[in-house]
Amino acid sequence: MSNFDFKKKGAKVLVLSCIDPRFIDKLTNYLNNYKGVQNDYDLFNLAGAELGVLEKKPWRETFLEHIDIALKLHKIKKIFVFSHIDCGMYKVTYDMKEDDNHLLHKVNLDKVIENLKKLHPKLKYKRFLMIEKGIINLDGKVPKKLKADYDKMMGK
Ligand SMILES: [Zn+2]
Repeated sequence: MSNFDFKKKGAKVLVLSCIDPRFIDKLTNYLNNYKGVQNDYDLFNLAGAELGVLEKKPWRETFLEHIDIALKLHKIKKIFVFSHIDCGMYKVTYDMKEDDNHLLHKVNLDKVIENLKKLHPKLKYKRFLMIEKGIINLDGKVPKKLKADYDKMMGK
């Protein structure tokens, strides 16, 4: 961390993502280059990210408590939720050999954010899908190098 500032208070964003180690470097790199975010985020990890929140009541309660803490201590303004393909939590929850139904990720992201909006209407929300080749902002433009993969997984 070249611009580590120990005295800095607060964070702009609370990030929810999966515990999967394959995506940690990708996510860190992506967020450090994300305009207006850089190192300025709280990180919360649950197996399956959005699916963990939907499926497991104690996890959901812990996540919601952390949102309250992040609001109180860090005055966060946004919540970013990162889903990823080939997720073990999806395979276990839906009893699937392959986690290749990418629309399911989108549906679950929408569900979680819809519920969060009811609790925290003033916060802004963004949904992301992490695939092998990179990260797609589902509320933004799909990067050119990921467009073909994205269209294919969304059945276009
Ligand atoms: Zn996962």
